Amino acid sequence: MPRDEPRPAEARRALRIDLEPQLRGPPGPRRPHASHVARHGRRRRDHRPADRRAGPCMSHSFEGRCPVCEAETRFESPDDWLRDHLRCVSCGSIPRERAFAWCLDRYRPGWRDEVVHECSPGGTRLSERLRTGCPDYVASQYWPDRAPGSVHEGVRCENLEKLTFEDRSVDLHCHLDVLEHVNSPEACFAEMERTLRPGGAMLFTTPVYAEIAETARTAYYDDKGVCHFLGAAEYHGNPIDDAGSPVTFHYGRNLAFLVTLWTRSCRVQQIALCAPDLGVVGDFCDVFLVEKDAA
Ligand SMILES: [Zn+2]
Repeated sequence: MPRDEPRPAEARRALRIDLEPQLRGPPGPRRPHASHVARHGRRRRDHRPADRRAGPCMSHSFEGRCPVCEAETRFESPDDWLRDHLRCVSCGSIPRERAFAWCLDRYRPGWRDEVVHECSPGGTRLSERLRTGCPDYVASQYWPDRAPGSVHEGVRCENLEKLTFEDRSVDLHCHLDVLEHVNSPEACFAEMERTLRPGGAMLFTTPVYAEIAETARTAYYDDKGVCHFLGAAEYHGNPIDDAGSPVTFHYGRNLAFLVTLWTRSCRVQQIALCAPDLGVVGDFCDVFLVEKDAA
């Protein structure tokens, strides 16, 4: 099939039949509800498998060039769990941020002249690099009690599932470890695709469990914004909310395939970089590049 033709609607519907019951949940915002937190408590985890939690920790050190701060530097970790601990001694970045920065420069070298939207920046050196390097950088956070599209201290209020950006007005949507907290990834991709200019792209990270073939929903939000876990409650840290963010999905090896279903005219690449000299080693460092057709 030619690249510039969306997949026929019938074929897309047929493919979705088996996937939707598992993936669909009631629409709603993606924030924890205070009463739920009070009832169930919080369980934070760092994705580390149980067999990686026992035994003595080893320190790690690699020399190289940091894709985030662009310094000749050293990457050091006091812990075997490199994903969260292998930091650049110059800028403090961690592996997935460096993988993202490397992919940004490699696959979107003209990003400084583009309209770049970063969803839920975490106050990192990477976000600072995007903000200071790009005159048309837009940061957003989602506050359910604020008007969508309004701006607070330079940060725009946006729900990734229902963006207020105009059609075809953004060149690049960026986010790091956001998608595992949304209620409807399908809605997020539809909205990102709608608002991308032809030739635009999404660049993001989210944890993908190599041992899981099929993506599974782990929680959903009801129409009152209350989060319901389907199994054990699981939260990750949230820079704008001390309660943390509930984890709503465990993405499996089929995520790239699902993204092709959730978009109409996009090509999906899953980039699994392993480069100690860039400080990119460890688990859950995959970067996804989703490019909208130029035509
Ligand atoms: Zn650095």
